[in-house]
Amino acid sequence: MDSENSAPPLGDMNAADFRRYGHEIIDWIGDYLENMESRPVLALVRPNEFRAQIPESAPAQSEGMDAILADVDRLIAPALTHWNHPAFFAYFSISASAPGIFGELLAAAFNVNQMLWRTSPAATELEEVALSWLRQLLGLPVAFDGIIYDTASVSTMHAIAAARESLDLQIRERGMSGREGLPLLRVYASEQAHSSVEKALIALGLGTRALCKISTDAEFRMEVAALMHAIETDKQNGALPCCVVATVGTTSTTSIDPVTAIADVCEEHKVWLHVDAAYGGSAAIVPEMRHVLDGCERADSIVTNPHKWLFTPIDLSVLYCRRMDTLRRAFSLVPEYLRTNDAPEEVRNGMDYGIQLGRRFRSLKLWMVMRYFGHEGLASRIREHCRLARLFASWVEAAPDWELAAPVPFSLVCFRARPQNIDGETEQQRAARQDALNEALMHNVNATGEAFFSHTKLNGVFVIRLAIGNIRTTEEHIARAWQLLNEQLQQLTHLVLCN
Ligand code: PLP
Repeated sequence: MDSENSAPPLGDMNAADFRRYGHEIIDWIGDYLENMESRPVLALVRPNEFRAQIPESAPAQSEGMDAILADVDRLIAPALTHWNHPAFFAYFSISASAPGIFGELLAAAFNVNQMLWRTSPAATELEEVALSWLRQLLGLPVAFDGIIYDTASVSTMHAIAAARESLDLQIRERGMSGREGLPLLRVYASEQAHSSVEKALIALGLGTRALCKISTDAEFRMEVAALMHAIETDKQNGALPCCVVATVGTTSTTSIDPVTAIADVCEEHKVWLHVDAAYGGSAAIVPEMRHVLDGCERADSIVTNPHKWLFTPIDLSVLYCRRMDTLRRAFSLVPEYLRTNDAPEEVRNGMDYGIQLGRRFRSLKLWMVMRYFGHEGLASRIREHCRLARLFASWVEAAPDWELAAPVPFSLVCFRARPQNIDGETEQQRAARQDALNEALMHNVNATGEAFFSHTKLNGVFVIRLAIGNIRTTEEHIARAWQLLNEQLQQLTHLVLCN
């Protein structure tokens, strides 16, 4: 036990220690962010290697902050994959910006539970303010009200629950199981839609069979004629269309579904339109990119994730909805101990709009991010990410041994190596070799620790993704990534060709 800085017998850490360690932690974070590039992006650890270094049980006595912080530095940080690294290009790359980190810190200190207005007046109202600001930045109409959840998966699940509620099938009271006369409810999304849509159907008891996957065109966008046909066929077969999920910025390629045409179909068939703009929504902050949300003004609900491309630390997802009353009807349930005499027309109680009772004060970090960077600052950063993606794409296009695998509407580039001299007895063999080469190439670059890529499969072939979204990424980082890829390609082409 370290008597110097261990916990007192009762109560919390004393104020002097709090200040001392608080300063130490901020200094540590400052160094961490400043020297990020000295660390490997992808944790170069084997499973359970980290865990083996941590005692199996909690200590009986206080260990003191010095020892705890030393382990954060010595054990935890080295065993993390660093999402804040400027060469993190995998999945959708994200950022905890400085104002966002401060927002998280303050929210933890306040520790308010935003379940009711009266348990968190400023937090509840700041959420309304922050979401109104963001709505204006995105150019969405005032008819959209919003609510913050943790992730897009949860936002989409709530949107589909509201869509189901809008059908007036009394599912809230009577449920779905064992009910006669309840038609099969159907939800439509493109084959490029995120798996969170299917997970929502599992969670809501609609089942994965409720999902109708709509085909996409050569640029991975939902085919509206196929959507129309699917809805009509379902209706003829007695199924009930419940919701269409369109995506602005699909996960694999960031393709943009034709939302305006999809909205026409939804209007004609009176189906709830939910737009998954978890990644792509932020781009509408850039005035010349506002068109990416064209048609979304007609949606019933839209999810966008500031924790993806708006420099806000994870987690923070926003569900905008023009039918908040329906969302409320789906979820509001007030036990006696949570009843208040606050006028419902004056205050909003967050717990009424979702499955969770307790809610974190998430809006603080988003509000701080919007204030610190301002509209122009946010737009410049997103614009720069798109420029870097186009630049990288231009290098790929100009190189004979590489090819682009999809258009680049935002800041993601899908590409693959296509060495001229790769051969095989059959086309299948050649394609398999090319896939193996690209996969090995990606793993080898990742193993350098200098950059981290992830992949997808498009039309059955292995494709590497370069996702730019970290606030610290510069042209230098993508140039180095390109160099690493080319170095690995040279080494590997030789090996694959010799096999
Ligand atoms: N929608 C899209 C388009 C995504 O790309 C993702 C994740 O990358 C999600 C939804 C799920 O996001 P979350 O992790 O916030 O649930």
